Amino acid sequence: MAQRPHVVIVGGGFGGLTCAQSLADEPVDVTLIDSRNHHLFQPLLYQVAMAGLSPAEIAAPIRSVLHEQRNASVLLAEVEAVDLTSREVKLVGAERDSLRFDYLVLAAGAQNHYFGHDDWARYAVGLKDLDDAVEIRRRVLVAFEAAECMHDPVEQKRLLTFVVVGGGPTGVELAGALGELARVVLARDFRRINPASAQVILLEGGERILTSFPEKLSKRATRDLAGLGVEVRAGTRVTRIDETGVFLGDQHIPSATVLWAAGVRASDLTRGLGVPLDRTGRVLVQADLTLPNHPSVFAVGDMTSFLHQGGSPLPGTSPVAMQQARHVAHNVMASLRGQPMLPFQYVDKGSMATIGRAAAVAQLGSLKLGGFLAWLLWLAVHIFFLITFRNRFAVLFNWAYSYFTYKRGARLITGHRLTAGPSRSSLALAPVAESAPPPAPTGSGPQQAPPR
Ligand SMILES: Cc1cc2nc3c(=O)[nH]c(=O)nc-3n(C[C@H](O)[C@H](O)[C@H](O)COP(=O)(O)OP(=O)(O)OC[C@H]3O[C@@H](n4cnc5c(N)ncnc54)[C@H](O)[C@@H]3O)c2cc1C
Repeated sequence: MAQRPHVVIVGGGFGGLTCAQSLADEPVDVTLIDSRNHHLFQPLLYQVAMAGLSPAEIAAPIRSVLHEQRNASVLLAEVEAVDLTSREVKLVGAERDSLRFDYLVLAAGAQNHYFGHDDWARYAVGLKDLDDAVEIRRRVLVAFEAAECMHDPVEQKRLLTFVVVGGGPTGVELAGALGELARVVLARDFRRINPASAQVILLEGGERILTSFPEKLSKRATRDLAGLGVEVRAGTRVTRIDETGVFLGDQHIPSATVLWAAGVRASDLTRGLGVPLDRTGRVLVQADLTLPNHPSVFAVGDMTSFLHQGGSPLPGTSPVAMQQARHVAHNVMASLRGQPMLPFQYVDKGSMATIGRAAAVAQLGSLKLGGFLAWLLWLAVHIFFLITFRNRFAVLFNWAYSYFTYKRGARLITGHRLTAGPSRSSLALAPVAESAPPPAPTGSGPQQAPPR
């Protein structure tokens, strides 16, 4: 029997998973490779970071999502390079070290970007995966705990000052949820401190927050954030972040917890491809989503810049990644049948950002919505798009529980050692790895970090 064409997909996020599923009934063999074993619903990551949901409620094992798709296999491995000439992907963490393809779909997404200040990452955690979300949750909850034990009022104020850098949708969501956590959820849990007195500051370099939304909605979001105790400072440039807090030129904001939502760049995988990239490392794809001069290699989602519709890149959102993925599946099949591949056309169904538990902003064509109605719409859309029924149900239940009781079921501190470190507060702010003892010598050669 003749071998069927082999489609290799790198990444099991919105783009990669959608592409694999779109090929379910086609006469091809699909291998989906991801360095994580789960598909992650990133739009709800901030809920994990703010203790509203548990990690398992917003992620699903890729293997189980695809288990009924007979033509698909899943490989847990990291693709470290792509050889476009020999048509192979180079793997780390798998039994084999390379895999050949007839068609390749790159959907490896993006990563946090500190604009040349990678040292800031230590003090200002970004929000890109579950590890980030759990680390943010740990830092935020431990800051409140440390403040409760602190006698020095200056240090206590620093512990209760939270700075979010970046006023895009992720920064707005984080700041709103932080304000709500401090003012509403934790309000009655402590005896010595008043969590509601915590300061949440949202810093934005541009003239206003949510620049991708109309000005009216940006103003509405600023007002809603103020209602949650969040101070928005637009037109501010962060010049340094260290263990003491954030510097804006001469001005210093003492803060123990800084969150980074100011930018992302494409997966490192794009660098070795030898094709044109933009400033943030995104592949400048052709109109049919192929790489220039490589008609059987496609790229979709956050790792791409698509300039063929209006001249400016499409936004890094899940609908863009999913629509591109479906289009690539179509073009792969067109190519196999000897038909022409079609240019991609994005259909914009709108955008939304949520602010705490009862407000959001939404733009759907010419319709601009704010407040509770927009939040209800946001809720419906996000639950509808969750991957499995179990997740939908669990998320809805937890939200309803947290909405009506003001309680947070996922308010757990993990990865925190109470016995190490010179003092509780300095321990509270140290990354877990720092407070862990060095690995014991094993006598069996250098220790390897476990794969992520
Ligand atoms: C906090 C946050 C909130 C967001 N909120 C929204 C929202 O409300 N609405 C919206 O539309 N969009 C939102 N987005 C953006 C949206 O999540 C992305 O646009 C979307 O995930 C892009 O899909 P993708 O397939 O390109 O990448 P991803 O979904 O990021 O998937 C990439 C996959 O590739 C894997 N991978 C990466 N490198 C390798 C490698 N070398 N080898 C193997 N596997 C690899 C990763 O493990 C990952 O599973 C949000 C993003 C974040 C971070």
